[in-house]
Amino acid sequence: MLVSTKDMLVKAQKEHYAVANFCIWNVEMLSGVMQACEKLQSPVILSFGSGFLVNTDINHFIHMMRSYATQTALPCSIHWDHGRSFEIVSHAIDIGYNSLMIDGSAYPFEENIRRTKEVVDKFHPLCIPVEAELGHVGAETDYEEALAHYLYTDPAQAAEFVERTGIDSLAIAIGNQHGAYTAPPQINFDILEQVRNSVSIPLVLHGASGIGDADIRRAIDLGITKINIHTELCEAAMDAIHACPENEKYQGLNIKVRDAVQARAENKILLFGSNGKAAGWFAK
Ligand SMILES: [Zn+2]
Repeated sequence: MLVSTKDMLVKAQKEHYAVANFCIWNVEMLSGVMQACEKLQSPVILSFGSGFLVNTDINHFIHMMRSYATQTALPCSIHWDHGRSFEIVSHAIDIGYNSLMIDGSAYPFEENIRRTKEVVDKFHPLCIPVEAELGHVGAETDYEEALAHYLYTDPAQAAEFVERTGIDSLAIAIGNQHGAYTAPPQINFDILEQVRNSVSIPLVLHGASGIGDADIRRAIDLGITKINIHTELCEAAMDAIHACPENEKYQGLNIKVRDAVQARAENKILLFGSNGKAAGWFAK
């Protein structure tokens, strides 16, 4: 069933687990993720963003995402990831998303607030929850180089940002990075703790593929309630492709990719502690 991301995250926050935000852009990924969620009875956020438009025409794919979300008994939302402009997120809502992220993190503080608040003011009356980012989780690049000039979330600014924008969840930059890590991730838990102590809304961890299980558990303990996974699903798919014999047919390969995505998604759900949390949704 299609539910609000906000409701899902507030429940997760109360019960100290995290909801997986799986970034998916084709049928194998979507069906693999949903098989994992059904098997483990987990709530889920299905997300898509502009970076995937080169792969998939979202005006068609949205119907498939919505079909899965509305026909399952699991709590499920459909989220537009990293919307860089008002126009982009507006289009996403127009075509059927029920959750969005406005990403003004590349802009200075005041401009980030202005862009974020504009989206909150427009979409809150439509009951669309809004995620925004403070600090900046960079794009895929050499990790050590990125760390040298990394823009961490400023805990002192976090409360003001949340207060002035009215957002529902906050994505933070604590040493996390998108894509595959080229060196071991160095997560700054002090900053996470300080941000946690300064704001009450759910916190979001992007770039979580490749962060070790112990660090993920610690991040959840310290208040992360939404975790974005994309790269690891792709890696699982590629591993399945490379493991195929040379005479594998495309149809068989397709099934192996779907099942590999399912297996990796199951690992994440168990790690995040959202397994079994689909139950009791109405009794919260
Ligand atoms: Zn992200």
